[in-house]
Amino acid sequence: MDSTWVDELREFIAIPSVSADPAHRDDVRRAAEWVRDFVKRIGGEAELVHQGESDLVIGDIPANANGATAPTVMIYGHFDVQPPAPLDLWETPPFELAERDGWFYARGIADDKGQLYALLKAAELLRRDGALPVNLRVACDGEEEIGGHSIVDFLREDERGADACIIFDGGMTRPDQPEFTLSTRGLVAFHMKVRTGKRDMHSGYFGGAALNAIHVLTQALSAVTARDGLLPEELRVGRAPLGQLEIDSLERLPSGLELLDDAGATPMDPKAAEQFYERTWAEPSLDVNGIRGGKPDFVNTTLIVEAEARFTIRLAPGQDPDTIAGAADNLIRAALPDGAEVELVRENSAPPGIISPDAHAVQLGMDAFERATGTRPLLVRVGGTLPIIPALARKGIPTINTGFALPESNVHSPNERLRVEDVDRAVAAASELYRSLAALG
Ligand SMILES: [Zn+2]
Repeated sequence: MDSTWVDELREFIAIPSVSADPAHRDDVRRAAEWVRDFVKRIGGEAELVHQGESDLVIGDIPANANGATAPTVMIYGHFDVQPPAPLDLWETPPFELAERDGWFYARGIADDKGQLYALLKAAELLRRDGALPVNLRVACDGEEEIGGHSIVDFLREDERGADACIIFDGGMTRPDQPEFTLSTRGLVAFHMKVRTGKRDMHSGYFGGAALNAIHVLTQALSAVTARDGLLPEELRVGRAPLGQLEIDSLERLPSGLELLDDAGATPMDPKAAEQFYERTWAEPSLDVNGIRGGKPDFVNTTLIVEAEARFTIRLAPGQDPDTIAGAADNLIRAALPDGAEVELVRENSAPPGIISPDAHAVQLGMDAFERATGTRPLLVRVGGTLPIIPALARKGIPTINTGFALPESNVHSPNERLRVEDVDRAVAAASELYRSLAALG
């Protein structure tokens, strides 16, 4: 790899832009300035745009010719990183780029500075050669790792739109087999509090006659949790089933049994392993994330009158957060015994995202990736939630959502790493994408 690339990457990596730590606020801004200055240096325009609590980098890198008619391609990446702790598990300091055995090591090398760098570098090389055929719109944020929504707010308000968007912030399940992630699940979060009396009681005097809040809580929760692996029908409304191309991809991915085994997980039911991808890609799921009540640390015989729980529903692609939240609310209320005082509060939510595999940009992107990497990408979904995907979809912007991290890249962990060859490959793929998306004009 070109040594100036390594020097640039080293400089970007050295800025400890940890968004979760207020002590690093200036560093997050310095990383934003680094991206802004890179864009300016290669002939674009860029500025920091203060949105909410944080700075976005918004810029434009014009096509070398026919700028007025060339399509506009948005490129998104994030310049903030996860905290590096625990530091003693790092073999080399997290903010010093190190190269060992064909891997680059550093916090942010895979998620996402190294991948964002590839998008920018490819733009620089094409522009230098007079061969950038699309206008690039740079839209980067510094609060991805803390779930910030400044980029979503920006997209909602930005009237200009774009013909396509490219995101390099993901990975491949297997080395050398790129993946385009078409759909993401949404999320609705609830907090529930139950009260069944003024004060806790002696179970000897009142047990069998007075309502116990923990019983009410668990009874309510069992009305919305999965049975035989699936949520109640009311919570499954609106799902978009897997497309044939997504089903075809399953043969090339690790089996559900393998994934459950590797995670040390216990399958939820006898069909869970076999239906792993249908369940995590195309079904909603509900997880209780915490329960509090009573005094489990001590031997006691108390009848408990107060209990609380937090639970989240992952929405399948196609589902509407308001509809599903309303259905969950109804199921819970219907399961409550008379007299219990229940406070059910809906907290944050994010819609699921769907990108059509038939979008012209996705098809051009698949061809471009095949030319650049030698392998046609698999079309996949992820079970997680990425608010930028539905935000782009609402604007009618088809998105190529992909990346070069590997399961062994230790993303969010000590010794985060990216294969050196994959930086070259990412630059080549970005370059080929920019060239091929010119056909959108
Ligand atoms: Zn990321």
